[in-house]
Amino acid sequence: MAVVVGVLAGWPIAVAGLFTLGQERALLIGNLVAFAFALRGSVRLVLERREFVTPTAQELTFRAKGHVRFLPGQYLELDVPHHRPDARGTRREFSIVSAPADLPTLRIAYKNGDQKHPSSYKRALAAAEPGATFAVTGTWGDFILPRGDHPVLMVAAGIGVTPFVSQLRQLQATGQQRDVVLVYVASDASELAFRDELAATGVRTVVFTRDEPADLPAHWTWGQGARLDAETLERAVADITTRHAFISGPPRLIADLAPALQKARTLTTDAFAGY
Ligand SMILES: Cc1cc2nc3c(=O)[nH]c(=O)nc-3n(C[C@H](O)[C@H](O)[C@H](O)COP(=O)(O)OP(=O)(O)OC[C@H]3O[C@@H](n4cnc5c(N)ncnc54)[C@H](O)[C@@H]3O)c2cc1C
Repeated sequence: MAVVVGVLAGWPIAVAGLFTLGQERALLIGNLVAFAFALRGSVRLVLERREFVTPTAQELTFRAKGHVRFLPGQYLELDVPHHRPDARGTRREFSIVSAPADLPTLRIAYKNGDQKHPSSYKRALAAAEPGATFAVTGTWGDFILPRGDHPVLMVAAGIGVTPFVSQLRQLQATGQQRDVVLVYVASDASELAFRDELAATGVRTVVFTRDEPADLPAHWTWGQGARLDAETLERAVADITTRHAFISGPPRLIADLAPALQKARTLTTDAFAGY
């Protein structure tokens, strides 16, 4: 698009001797080219099912129409046109929960940020019935596990668990063995989303919740109600310095926890702006 606009804008082409093309028309032509590409790559999601995965978080299961390409850990932008959108508009980013191996099934999960004053977007999304179709404007993000078999530490802050479910499912679906530790922070045990799915991946998991979760799987431990900070994290993950750390979730929680991760080999963050 840049080349098309650059060439046309810089070159005073006479059109049928009537007028020269000029910059505005060059921009217009450039956008038409981009639109054609967007049309060719457009993806639509058909809502199949909605389910509460915790008292405050819902999972939406879609069937993808069109060619979706994403890597585990990436997010999509979901367009939900609705009447009288508020200042935040009609589009939001959501990390994809399902794995590429699950396509054409695609899942996202979102938290009702505020029961009393939800955005117009969340109200519209909550009202969507099975069969509703939404446009995805694209998939993006660099919250991708490093190649090779370096040990990894995943720190999920609340709804920030979503990209990790995708990554762990993809490892499982492709039979890849990887040294991963998952640290999962949630306000309380009922807010631990995707427990069974995460447990099925066999990853060592440490959960930090106020109250003790019932029936923890064998390879899961509870942080005794402690608040997660640098000290408790180092106690829970003694070899943190050898691990690539990934942290995902609401910005405030990431800000709280990031200092605890300074000792990790590398640190990659995925802040869910908007909460
Ligand atoms: C890379 C990335 C990945 C993400 N992945 C996920 C994900 O997997 N799951 C997920 O739930 N979110 C995810 N998010 C966040 C998501 O995109 C939204 O920002 C978030 O869900 C908040 O939605 P909302 O703006 O509709 O507000 P709500 O959820 O309705 O409310 C959130 C807060 O914003 C306030 N608020 C709402 N509307 C307004 C307004 N118009 N003006 C001012 N304040 C307002 C509310 O009072 C509340 O305090 C991700 C964000 C990024 C950047």
